Amino acid sequence: MNNPWTTELWRLTAVIALALLAGSLTQATTLLLIIALSLYILWHLYHLRQLYNWLNAKGKFHPPTGRGLWREVFDQLYHLQKRNRNRKKKLARFLNRFQESTAAMPDATVVLDAQWQIQWINSAARDLLGLRPKKDAGQYITNLLRQPAFKHYIEQAAFQQPLEIHAPADDTVQLSIRIIPYGKKQHLLVARDITRLTQLEQVRRDFVANISHELRTPLTVLNGYLETMQDDDDPALAPWQPSLNQMHQQTGRMKNIVNDLLMLSRLESGASHHSATVYMAAMLATIREDAIALSGDKKQTITLDADPGLQLKGNEGELHSAFSNLVFNAVRYTPSGGHITIRWHKDKQGAHFEVSDDGIGIPPQNIPRLTERFYRVDAGRSRDEGGTGLGLAIVKHVLQRHQATLLIKSAVNKGSTFSCRFPASTVVQTRPREDD
Ligand code: ADP
Repeated sequence: MNNPWTTELWRLTAVIALALLAGSLTQATTLLLIIALSLYILWHLYHLRQLYNWLNAKGKFHPPTGRGLWREVFDQLYHLQKRNRNRKKKLARFLNRFQESTAAMPDATVVLDAQWQIQWINSAARDLLGLRPKKDAGQYITNLLRQPAFKHYIEQAAFQQPLEIHAPADDTVQLSIRIIPYGKKQHLLVARDITRLTQLEQVRRDFVANISHELRTPLTVLNGYLETMQDDDDPALAPWQPSLNQMHQQTGRMKNIVNDLLMLSRLESGASHHSATVYMAAMLATIREDAIALSGDKKQTITLDADPGLQLKGNEGELHSAFSNLVFNAVRYTPSGGHITIRWHKDKQGAHFEVSDDGIGIPPQNIPRLTERFYRVDAGRSRDEGGTGLGLAIVKHVLQRHQATLLIKSAVNKGSTFSCRFPASTVVQTRPREDD
């Protein structure tokens, strides 16, 4: 196929040549050359106008019929336009499918722009969040979902964890809200109805709390009788002493489990959280004394290095339980002659409570699961040491209630460090107390 440009150049050359030939015959070369070139320009202008009209005529799909180079230009433009239309159609179909599927989703979905204004919502958002598809478009989401917890969630922008709130339209419905950032500072809000899940969770919690509570009294009675029989000098009981000791040990274990389960239920139920200034150095000194008693003949060195002027705002009972769990674990899982260090200090990130030991350590694959209930690296060893498998679960809950985080570093046969980091907002700097 001929190159249209070459053909066009030939056409121009032919026009000029014809004008020159006719000019040499008529002695009016300049005039004829001007006329020929003007006609040539007029021909181009005609096509240019056709192109202009075609581009401006909306909805006109087929291009004008041109000649020479212009036909080529029109054809290429036509194909470009056709490709664009197809692409647009495909995109529209995809968008439709996306909107249809999100509209059918049982979870409320809201598309938000960078300013937190609503761009699009699905129909579940109407039922769960009380939003109106057309009227609320362009509104700020915080003006429509007005719970303080939601506002705080958006301000904090910590979207790794979902937020649980009551549905604005119905207090009996519990929602789990997730915000997923995407594109250019846009956000997708997804709200899921978790009422049933929350109810089941509540049933489970109540069940554990009730059963623990019910077991407490019979266990106390049993334990009491066993203690009396152990202390009894009656020779008839003498052969039973080893069995009585074992029974006493086991009921003691059960009592510890029941107490830990009750503690966990209390922590989970979010029951009133009495907060006051906790004098840390004094509390840690008593924990150290208890740890020395627990350590017994193991001849472990237990050192305490606490900043006496650094106090915590929180619940003393809960914090005592969490810290003593960590210290007693260090005693239990560190062999005789080992070293345990308890530290309480402050830096730029907040205050830190740290327990380090040079004990048996924990294999890295077990570390992420340690705070699960009844999770033990070595169940036999934990039982022998009097553990319930609930200690670190209690620690996790107590720390959560104090906005603190737990960090575990450990190496097998080298030792472990359990650190609790408290945010600066929970720390109080005071003069040391007289008895610290
Ligand atoms: P337990 O009552 O069994 O000690 P915890 O929840 O307190 O239950 O601890 C869970 C598990 O974590 C323990 O069984 C033990 O395997 C491991 N663990 C906890 N603290 C230490 C430590 N300081 N050194 C080694 N292992 C530890």
